[in-house]
Parts: sequence; C-alpha cells; structure tokens
Amino acid sequence: MMLYLKACPRCRGDVKYERDVYGPYLECLQCGFLLSSKSEGITASSEKSTGEKAASGTVKAA
Ligand SMILES: [Zn+2]
Repeated sequence: MMLYLKACPRCRGDVKYERDVYGPYLECLQCGFLLSSKSEGITASSEKSTGEKAASGTVKAA
C-alpha cells in the first residue's frame, strides 16, 4: 500500500493507493474521497489548487 500524504483534493488528508479486482484506486483516509487512478492523477481534480508543485502522477508530501 502506498500513501500520498496530504494529497486529498477535498480535505487535504492522506490518500492511500490500493487496488482491487477493478484495478487501482485512491482513497482518502480522512474523508473517504474515492478516486480511480485511471482518471489520471489526484491533482488533476483539485478544485482549489493553490499553486501546488506536484507533478502529475507523483505526489509528494509538502
Ligand atoms: Zn479527504
């Protein structure tokens, strides 16, 4: 399991990377936000981007 710290676009919580029979997905540990990784990157759906430097695909802890 991989963790993306503070990567949740909704609550800035920690997002875990998991995969099941349907494929990989991302789930926020704090608010339960679900995101299929097929939709390319959790930063792509960030609503209120405050100039984050995260490159698409890789999210690092700020
Ligand atoms: Zn969240």
